[in-house]
Amino acid sequence: MMTEGRSRSEERPGPPVRSASRFGFPLPALPALYALCALPLSACGDDSSPADGGGEVDGDGTGDGEGGSTSTFWSCPGDPGCAGAGAAAFEAGVGRRVANPTITETLTVDVDGDGEFDIRDDEFDDVDGDGRFDGVWIAGYGNPRPANDIHDDIETRVLALRSGEKLLAIVSADLIGMFHDDVEQLRSAVADLDIDYLLVACSHNHEGPDTIGLWGLNETSSGVDPAYMNFLLAQMEAAVRDAVADLRPARVKYGRTQPGESAAKGINNVVGDGRDPVILNPWLTVLGFEDAADGSTIATLVNWTAHAEFSDDRINSITADYVHSLRLGIEEGVAEGSVDVPGVGGLAVFTQGALGSQVGPNRVQTTGLDGTEWTGGEEIDWAQEVGRILAVGALRALDEATAPEDTLDLAWVRARVELIVENYGYHAMLLNGIFNRELHGYDPTYPLETGNYPWLWTEVSWLRLGRAQVYTVGGEPCPEQFLGGYDGSYTPDSLSLVDPGSAHPPDLSAAPGPPYLYDRLEGAEYPMTWGLTNDMLGYLIPSYDYFLDEHAPYIDEAFGFYYEETNSIGPEGWPAVERAYLEILERRP
Ligand SMILES: [Zn+2]
Repeated sequence: MMTEGRSRSEERPGPPVRSASRFGFPLPALPALYALCALPLSACGDDSSPADGGGEVDGDGTGDGEGGSTSTFWSCPGDPGCAGAGAAAFEAGVGRRVANPTITETLTVDVDGDGEFDIRDDEFDDVDGDGRFDGVWIAGYGNPRPANDIHDDIETRVLALRSGEKLLAIVSADLIGMFHDDVEQLRSAVADLDIDYLLVACSHNHEGPDTIGLWGLNETSSGVDPAYMNFLLAQMEAAVRDAVADLRPARVKYGRTQPGESAAKGINNVVGDGRDPVILNPWLTVLGFEDAADGSTIATLVNWTAHAEFSDDRINSITADYVHSLRLGIEEGVAEGSVDVPGVGGLAVFTQGALGSQVGPNRVQTTGLDGTEWTGGEEIDWAQEVGRILAVGALRALDEATAPEDTLDLAWVRARVELIVENYGYHAMLLNGIFNRELHGYDPTYPLETGNYPWLWTEVSWLRLGRAQVYTVGGEPCPEQFLGGYDGSYTPDSLSLVDPGSAHPPDLSAAPGPPYLYDRLEGAEYPMTWGLTNDMLGYLIPSYDYFLDEHAPYIDEAFGFYYEETNSIGPEGWPAVERAYLEILERRP
């Protein structure tokens, strides 16, 4: 029987209750905020100088010319400053730092038990006696949700790879996301290390501190604590330095599996989807890096696709969600019931996949490794069990992996891409400083409306890691944008591609046909997407199924299940990213 805690999987076909608040503020407050941002503003981070305001051309001086946006591309090897080509002997190194927030004031009375602080009924421990709740605000669901304790650590883990003269640093973090501006700050802090490409890949954790701003005490205050951001960036910097100092000759092996450890449910034992069409990436991919001298594990790079939000929206604990026990299981092994799989040691580094729209705990009923049916009530425990089940899959993938190879072909193409922000709600957040990032290309003395929308810079990229190839993007695209699967070929037997009772189902006859983005990765035995990487742009929805409410776009949802559009930068978001990918593929070394 479904309990309240597991009811998310039963919320279809209507929009789930939580979706209205996931945006981070009660919807009725939005018009007031929008009124604020519609006023002429003179100090809102505008940078409309020609060099950065839309006049830039790409590396070849051609520009992409489409959609009014411009992009700049860097290829490695190929461009000046990046030498060497092909597979070469390589080194790997790791670093790890804990980045927990410091909790001082806590929620002491939560009358309705929803985990959120209600100023009318609830009470908090006002340590500094200023009458204001100075909480650590948890990102991902409704707000304000204060953290009362730490269940398991928020971590940043780094894998550094040097092949030939190329140095790559993959920074993983247990966070909801991180803006590109903050990624650039980290890059500047470690500029002396001569890293050719540094990526920050967030797990999209819904039980960590707010690093974006949406989840603060109220609609007009950011949930980001600047002191925490400084601490976080310092911990990331330290972990990057450790990883580069740790570089040593290495070998790599590749593996992937369909996890779930359930004959009846398959991957649906650990992942589902809350928005039609239900198309899931079934692959958990691992790259195992071992010390060339003694064969000991240096790192396991693990990629899986599911919202890190199994711990639910009512808890007041900081946790890395399933990612914590997934990593721990890979390193130390999993022994539960009749399952006893030894770990491989080293450091497990997680990257999140294309988890839009609602790929995660929706429509999941988990059978645990010891046969226990998870029926709700202990959400943190459920998340940890899902992580252990995934760890068993990851260890199997490592066990069945290719023979270790002592060379690694490292290459990438990065694109700096300009995107238009059409979402009124985002305008409010950007202009009021709830979102702290640079905008350009608009006139701040006029209201934001068609013809005067702000633009921002983001980054998308393609990487070759030997037999693996990776698309990165700073947002939440859907698996089908990379895999296809509109014919149901990636829909688990236990789920339907489209809910037969849906009042406004997606028109799959209008969905794009092949070749899909993974089809275009010739020679990639292990294709991956790393979402929430180098930026946080919200959902990236394919055009054929992008619907806005006619009367209050971005504020109300279109009829049916179209929540994600309200948390997207606009209809041009995904098309611009896809155009950048296609041009990147043309420039592959
Ligand atoms: Zn999400």
